[in-house]
Amino acid sequence: MNKKILEIKDLHVHYLTDGYTVKAVNGVNLSLARGESLGLVGETGAGKTTTALGILGLVPNPPGKVIKGEIIYNNENLLRKSDAQMRKIRGREISMIFQDPMTALNPVLTVGAQIAEVIRLHEKISAGDALIRACEMMRLVGIDDVRHDEYPHQFSGGMKQRIVIAIALACNPSLLLADEPTTALDVTIQEQVLDLIEKLRRERGASLILISHDLGIVAEVCEKVAIIYAGEIVEYGTAGHIFDRRAHPYTRGLFDSIPDFSRKVHRLRPIEGMMSDPTKLPEGCFFAERCPYAFEPCRKIVPVFEPEPGHLVKCVLVEKGKAPQ
Ligand code: SF4
Repeated sequence: MNKKILEIKDLHVHYLTDGYTVKAVNGVNLSLARGESLGLVGETGAGKTTTALGILGLVPNPPGKVIKGEIIYNNENLLRKSDAQMRKIRGREISMIFQDPMTALNPVLTVGAQIAEVIRLHEKISAGDALIRACEMMRLVGIDDVRHDEYPHQFSGGMKQRIVIAIALACNPSLLLADEPTTALDVTIQEQVLDLIEKLRRERGASLILISHDLGIVAEVCEKVAIIYAGEIVEYGTAGHIFDRRAHPYTRGLFDSIPDFSRKVHRLRPIEGMMSDPTKLPEGCFFAERCPYAFEPCRKIVPVFEPEPGHLVKCVLVEKGKAPQ
């Protein structure tokens, strides 16, 4: 039996706007086993959300376009599916938890009706039975089901995100995509929501891709980590290896910019500079303009994945056996 549930091969996604081509995703390769959790980490604009939208077949076209690649889900290429086929897969097999619950929920429908709607979309079930299931889902995410006929504005931010999670899990999907699921929440609620996602994922055996810019959150939840920069994965491996033996200068920069309360420092160490303009990506390594280790070959040679113990790294220095220490 193939243990892989998802394999993304050489995915390229562009947005064509006003005569410019925004190269948002540039050859992403990823794989995910059944029941596994993967953190997709990078700065804003790195291509995390576009990759997730590509998996769901939701890249807005126009202006977005999948230029090439394959997204193999359960041995079938999702990029060859029709819109009607993708509608059946979305919500039932692959679900997404969006960043902002306020925009993900319909303000004029009760929360019970919104959960039941997803269930009825994918299953032949009466309205009454769908509402019973919706109430079960509300209890599962820790909300009293007597509130099923209340509207989103009657719930707090954390409660709304729980409703979004209930909707995403209502049809027992095999793959869950969570796009910055706690960014819009208070810090005190973030922990609860993460625990809930992880608990439900484990109970139901679903695979998870957690999209985040926050390495702390990824460390809590994910078994594997992929670091994405300017639309390409630059480091990929088990969480243990990435956290303990990070080798790519961008990954090191991300870790260095995390506040360390055990040391007294005057300033944080951010990664200098801005991400490359996606309409004018440089030749060679996309990180060269910001990389403290850059040397001449970096601006000419396109790095390829090199194996480091337990993980893969895309860096010319690593290729030459001179990984930054
Ligand atoms: Fe830095 Fe060169 Fe490695 Fe790119 S290839 S990350 S510029 S050392």
